[in-house]
Amino acid sequence: MNAPSLNPSIRGNSPMKLRSDSADRADRAAVRPLGVLAALPEELGDLLATMRAESGVVTHTLGRRDYHVGAVHGVPCVVALARVGKVAAAATASALIHAFDVGAIAFTGVAGGVGPDVHIGDVVIGETLLQHDMNASPLFPCFEIPLLGRAHFDADAALAAALADACERFIAEDGATLAARFRIAPPRVHRGLVISGDQFVASAQAVGALRSQLPQALAVEMEGAAIAQVCHEYDVPCAVVRTISDTADEHASASFKSFLSELAGTYSTGILKRFLPAYAQTAAR
Ligand code: SAH
Repeated sequence: MNAPSLNPSIRGNSPMKLRSDSADRADRAAVRPLGVLAALPEELGDLLATMRAESGVVTHTLGRRDYHVGAVHGVPCVVALARVGKVAAAATASALIHAFDVGAIAFTGVAGGVGPDVHIGDVVIGETLLQHDMNASPLFPCFEIPLLGRAHFDADAALAAALADACERFIAEDGATLAARFRIAPPRVHRGLVISGDQFVASAQAVGALRSQLPQALAVEMEGAAIAQVCHEYDVPCAVVRTISDTADEHASASFKSFLSELAGTYSTGILKRFLPAYAQTAAR
């Protein structure tokens, strides 16, 4: 498969090509590159090295971010670091859609565990996402995005299922080794609600408040629901996978740092190398 190229309209000073909301989703996913995002470099694992070896990488800088264009495991991809927080994530998702014409977006990274059975080293697939710090009440119900009429944004069901399948295979094949090597419980895969906000949640009180407000929440992070909102608004399929680096309590900061440096890359590499070949086959159909 050929590597995708930059939307020509972003070269020079001409205004960017605007996409139509009614663009056909199936056609989009079949012919357009996949956007792959993470917040931090560790969360990409070996993705860029693999892309460099497979197709070569062409890097474009836009809005102070680098967008790496190439192919990985047979999938034309645009890979970028969103950096941290909802605005950063929304801006990056928007650039992927408008300047790089991606057909879908997959986000990989770490998160704090919130659900009672969600432990460090587990993997959470965001089937639906919500911004836990959005509150324009009493004008709008708590969590609802004003004027959009919804609080929850669904991941694309097929993409989420393909990611979940890749995670299940990764855990089945490598989970026992990871657990022994890093002294964590045998990892499990969860699917459900992921919540996002512009806070690193790091106290029993803060995570307890989220649990009582949003009892379905499995994981808390800082980007996923912003990407899901942008993708909803432009009708672009998206999916979010998060490995649990901490449990959003007093130990979160130390746990996050050691997980990020020791394990986040191993998880992303293991998941993406199983997900991308499956995605290539689906897109070719
Ligand atoms: N650049 C800093 C800040 C990271 S913030 C650093 O490297 O130390 C934490 C990142 O991990 C965010 O991208 C967020 O999505 C995710 N995350 C992990 N645990 C989290 C938690 N307990 N609360 C919120 N976000 C968390």
